Amino acid sequence: MARHTGPKCRLCRREGQKLLLRGDRCFSDKCSMTHRAKIPGQHGRLRARRRATPYAIRIREKQKLKRIYGVREAQFRRYVEAAKKWKGVTGEAILKLLERRLDNVVYRAGFATSRDHARQLVTHGHFLVNNRHTRIPSMLLQEGDMVELRPESRAKLREAIRGWAERRPLPSWIMRDLEGLRVQVGAEPNLEELDQSVNMSLIVEFYSR
Ligand code: SF4
Repeated sequence: MARHTGPKCRLCRREGQKLLLRGDRCFSDKCSMTHRAKIPGQHGRLRARRRATPYAIRIREKQKLKRIYGVREAQFRRYVEAAKKWKGVTGEAILKLLERRLDNVVYRAGFATSRDHARQLVTHGHFLVNNRHTRIPSMLLQEGDMVELRPESRAKLREAIRGWAERRPLPSWIMRDLEGLRVQVGAEPNLEELDQSVNMSLIVEFYSR
């Protein structure tokens, strides 16, 4: 299935939770979840009243995580399969894989206002990874990898990035140099610093059927 390109606030309303998909707007009074939080669609209110089955609860949790990171089903399933082969808790391994995506690291570092925006900057070729040009938002970064703004993009994006970065708390596993407009990926992502809560055991159960 293709990536969702329609209104993003509908996704939050469907999941009944702020998914923070639209940058600064999500923290303002304009956020749809503050004034129009009902499930979208003609039968939204009816759906909200209906008791969810265990299957529906699991599928919604899975959809929520996919929507937060902007990942399609097939790709998400690949992360789940890879995580199952890791030692340790599968749910945590899935989150660590998602956190290591290039678009997520650009977003977490404050170089973009949302993950969608980060994905757009990456696909437009504004970043180098370890001095090599890349346009692949799903690229998984390893400890020590260096992501920097391409010299040709600096003049255009420098001031905007400094403004965005000042408003974003920096996770402890990312080292940021705002003068050089570069970030270095540190050790394991710290899952306690995630800004959204998802029940990972329900997602693992969904894929274990
Ligand atoms: Fe979701 Fe952000 Fe839209 Fe609010 S503004 S509904 S958090 S995408």
